[in-house]
Amino acid sequence: MAALATAADFRSDRSSDSRPAYCPPDVEQLGRATWTFLHTTAAYYPDRPTSWQRANMLNLLHSLPVLYPCSHCASHLGETLRINPPDVSGRVALSRWLCERHNEVNERLGKDKFNCAKTDERWKDGPSDGSCD
Ligand SMILES: Cc1cc2nc3c(=O)[nH]c(=O)nc-3n(C[C@H](O)[C@H](O)[C@H](O)COP(=O)(O)OP(=O)(O)OC[C@H]3O[C@@H](n4cnc5c(N)ncnc54)[C@H](O)[C@@H]3O)c2cc1C
Repeated sequence: MAALATAADFRSDRSSDSRPAYCPPDVEQLGRATWTFLHTTAAYYPDRPTSWQRANMLNLLHSLPVLYPCSHCASHLGETLRINPPDVSGRVALSRWLCERHNEVNERLGKDKFNCAKTDERWKDGPSDGSCD
């Protein structure tokens, strides 16, 4: 019978972070994973979404301030959504809107702003040198 894996089995399985990869996510890891999900979902959102797709995207975004398990992040996001309602009219507009919201967080955390013209390259197409193909 196969033995259950123990923490020791994963000790060499470290992420780029200082803690082992089997640890529950901290605010930074959760943030990276969530941004990955949101930007990738926006990158593949339809150019002409149906009203059903728009409504579901709005539900997804508006659920974050309620459910996101980092309370100060969630509360900032709630305020941001109130001031800048999501543009779910199509893929390009949504990707731009999300990039701007992410940049607001970057700015608040003292990080560089991301060039929103490069959103598709980062989250959908990869660089033109083919290094991600
Ligand atoms: C909704 C939300 C709110 C958050 N609020 C807070 C907070 O209040 N306080 C806090 O400490 N942390 C917050 N975080 C986490 C924080 O944003 C980062 O995820 C975390 O600090 C790790 O940062 P990072 O430098 O590894 O890259 P991240 O900011 O996680 O970015 C991941 C990758 O996305 C790309 N990227 C960066 N900016 C953009 C952009 N504007 N558009 C498109 N792609 C981009 C870059 O390639 C980057 O490597 C929040 C996360 C989310 C999802």
